[in-house]
Amino acid sequence: MRLSKLRQILTENDLDAFLVSDVTNERYLAGFIGSPGDAWLLISQDLALIATDSRYWEQVERECPDFELVKITAKFDDVLPEVLQRLGGKRIGYEADHVTVAQYDRWMKPFGEVEWVATDEWVKKLRAVKDAEEIELMRKAVALADEALAHGLQHIRPGMTEQELAWIMETYMRTHGAEKISFDLIVGGGPNGAMAHYRAADVPLQAGQPIVIDMGAKLDGYCSDLTRTVCLGEPAEPERFWEVYNTVLAAQEKAEAEIRADMTGIEADAIARQVIADAGYGEQFGHGLGHGVGLEVHEKPRASYISPDTLAAGNLITVEPGIYITGWGGVRIEDIVLVTADGVEVLTQSPKEPIIYGDW
Ligand code: ZN
Ligand code: ZN
Repeated sequence: MRLSKLRQILTENDLDAFLVSDVTNERYLAGFIGSPGDAWLLISQDLALIATDSRYWEQVERECPDFELVKITAKFDDVLPEVLQRLGGKRIGYEADHVTVAQYDRWMKPFGEVEWVATDEWVKKLRAVKDAEEIELMRKAVALADEALAHGLQHIRPGMTEQELAWIMETYMRTHGAEKISFDLIVGGGPNGAMAHYRAADVPLQAGQPIVIDMGAKLDGYCSDLTRTVCLGEPAEPERFWEVYNTVLAAQEKAEAEIRADMTGIEADAIARQVIADAGYGEQFGHGLGHGVGLEVHEKPRASYISPDTLAAGNLITVEPGIYITGWGGVRIEDIVLVTADGVEVLTQSPKEPIIYGDW
């Protein structure tokens, strides 16, 4: 199904074959799980070849049933002439964002009769619309992040460092099936939370401050991404805390109520941005509303004020408005939603009640 969609794109673009070198696209199309630069896919209307070295031969036989193995014993360069001959095509597409200048010089210049055609993220665009199997895998990855956060919040207490909390949640994910974490966990207490892409540091968490927690699990290849902002006990500055928190929550709820397929990324972003701007915090929401998520934690489509993308049914995107106030802290709330023709289904289940009470 994925291959036939790609083959249709080749036909539409008058290409005879396509070279895939992005490792995530290789996983998506062939089921190949490896490191960048270890394998190449060559796909025509009749052939689906995977070229790789002996470290992966057994794995390819098991995991890539739709692909014929081309054995590399030294370098990809050595099998390329033979492979091009078998493909028999003249116009061959390549992934312009995943071929280096050095590879281009070695592979593409010497074959005078072949016309190499630079392509722009074709497989990434296919990946943006998830099939039923992918949606099921994402539901599991999302559920694991929800569980890990709940586990972390059972153990959180003043004096625990950001890193300790991050490790409690990371350990939970890794011991409950995650192959990896989606990205380095963010735990930002107080002023640290004002940096949207802060990580967790050796800094104690304090009662009364907003604490931004952003984390996710990579499970069966699929990445979840979840943010909640919590406060240990009553907020030290209740007026500001609740104004900021409730503004972010209202922005998220409005976006989740109104986003639907065929809306542009800019329009989706604007729903939440307007709520935050109306509350006087427009300058403090510096990033886009959300991003596609799947085999990679950031993928197409983007829902931001500069996004050229249009949303489609089957997209999985995050909805994550935030307000960041230097010297005070940040509030961000992030869910993953499935875009449908008439709205969204929110997959993330973590509660949004921020105050954590404990007997510390
Ligand atoms: Zn996140
Ligand atoms: Zn995110």
